[in-house]
Amino acid sequence: MHIDARQIDDLSSIEGDICIIGSGAAGISIALEWINTPYKVILLEGGGFEYDERVQELYRGKNTGQNYYPLKSARLHYFGGTTGHWGGMCSTFDPIAFRERDWVPLSGWPFSDQELIPYYKRASDNVSIGEYEFSFNYWQQQDPSLVPLPVSQDIFWNKIWRFGMPSAARFGKKYKDTIVNAKNIHLYTYANAVDIKTNENVSTVTEVTVKNYAGKTHKVRAKYFIIACCSIQTTRLLIASNKNAPAGLGNDNDLVGRYFMEHPELKSAELWLKQPSTLKPYMRNPPNIRAELAMLPQKQAEYKVLNGILSFNPLEQARKKPPYIQTWIDEDPRKNEERTNEIEDKSTRKSRLSKIFGSSSNKYDSFEITMRLEQAPNPLSRVTLDTEKDELGVPRAILHWAFTDMERKSARKIFEILGQQVGIAGIGRVELREDLRDDKDTSMPSTTSGGWHHMGTTRMNNDPKKGVVDSNCKIHGLSNLFIAGSSCFPNGAAVNPTYTIVALSIRLSDHIKETIKNEGDRKLIVT
Ligand SMILES: Cc1cc2nc3c(=O)[nH]c(=O)nc-3n(C[C@H](O)[C@H](O)[C@H](O)COP(=O)(O)OP(=O)(O)OC[C@H]3O[C@@H](n4cnc5c(N)ncnc54)[C@H](O)[C@@H]3O)c2cc1C
Repeated sequence: MHIDARQIDDLSSIEGDICIIGSGAAGISIALEWINTPYKVILLEGGGFEYDERVQELYRGKNTGQNYYPLKSARLHYFGGTTGHWGGMCSTFDPIAFRERDWVPLSGWPFSDQELIPYYKRASDNVSIGEYEFSFNYWQQQDPSLVPLPVSQDIFWNKIWRFGMPSAARFGKKYKDTIVNAKNIHLYTYANAVDIKTNENVSTVTEVTVKNYAGKTHKVRAKYFIIACCSIQTTRLLIASNKNAPAGLGNDNDLVGRYFMEHPELKSAELWLKQPSTLKPYMRNPPNIRAELAMLPQKQAEYKVLNGILSFNPLEQARKKPPYIQTWIDEDPRKNEERTNEIEDKSTRKSRLSKIFGSSSNKYDSFEITMRLEQAPNPLSRVTLDTEKDELGVPRAILHWAFTDMERKSARKIFEILGQQVGIAGIGRVELREDLRDDKDTSMPSTTSGGWHHMGTTRMNNDPKKGVVDSNCKIHGLSNLFIAGSSCFPNGAAVNPTYTIVALSIRLSDHIKETIKNEGDRKLIVT
């Protein structure tokens, strides 16, 4: 069922069992889990079904740290969320991402990768990647011509990526009818959550205030609330909800907004081969898979590096593609998307988000190597609130993206080891580009892009002094407020986040169902 919150009476009172704030990959995935249950689910979406400039403007913010994309255009503010722009690139977080590593301060999740595997399997359909299969050997058996680079298998392995085709994997398009037609899902568009109210001792959320630019204000009451607005918005909402908790909700230990992580992307090396090659496994192959080269966990431990994963693009095409940080510069996300597609078109004659199928049979002797790097958790990399407010009265975000001295060192080391291995194999050489050559410099190059992956600002830890949410994504100290999304990641691995966001969201949904069952299996509100 769909209700436009601009069209209903001002000061309406909305009630449900579960209230989900945000209808992106996380919010929609949770709502889907509740369809045909006896529970009434309120799904609040700040925008409509299409791009709306006045709503998008609510995302405008400032960057004060490492050069980053304009905050207004790094996310999409309408039904389906940022999946309206995503590339559909999916892989699983490696087991090492979940482990506490003595060489990476503050590393480790409260559970292992095994906990997430059943949820990854369930999430595969949401992100439109087909069956859960990420073993390189499996895909090589299907296509024996996928012959990887002959570098030592004691150092590197081939990590498989799956691609949900954007036409199929954009949540707004894919799930609109399912959500709107579900009797027990009440989707309110133009319902921007601006404040979360609690009881006096801040142990329970009582209601959420929503507003829109039509001047309407409504109240939403529910038994359980889930914030699924993505990391920066989630931070804004929590800190701005400060009537009873002066530092904001979940922020007694000054952790909300800290540990912001991205995936730094570095186009900082070239591979020159003696014999031209297609590097077939590293290009997209049917049925929409691709490998990237990754360092084995034991070698990451030996070299004390963060995880970094390498992809290869023919140099003659890559030279026509500047780093995204130099092209995704407009405040209007649509213009950036258009420009990116034009650049991609010119370099490969194919659009980034369309039909990139089948590997090329062309052979090349040189490739650009791009590294997607894990970022170390860093309390100084953070989102804070500005004194300036948006049209609905919520303070705007200030992002200070900052690194430790581990990122640059790790990137240099991984490229260096690859260079040695390529030399040992006698197939060519790896050349480090100027931006990473200086071994005294600890800063990240100005050419560093991000993957538009916002993570970590409400990190997960079972100790309230170390994390905002517990291992069930519940905010410490609040009995009924949960967070869905990558803000909960204590560590972001070196892998695009959405597949893991969806898996974690389904897990959260199961947890709330279990909680309700344990409370006596009663229906909370009659739909
Ligand atoms: C160009 C680009 C390419 C990308 N490619 C990939 C990729 O290939 N693979 C990958 O894994 N990830 C990719 N991503 C990242 C991916 O889009 C995000 O990880 C994913 O969309 C996050 O899902 P989410 O539900 O947490 O947040 P979002 O998708 O951003 O959804 C948040 C939702 O909350 C709503 N909202 C926000 N504030 C409020 C409020 N106060 N009240 C009510 N509603 C609110 C928003 O309108 C939106 O619908 C890409 C991103 C971009 C920009």
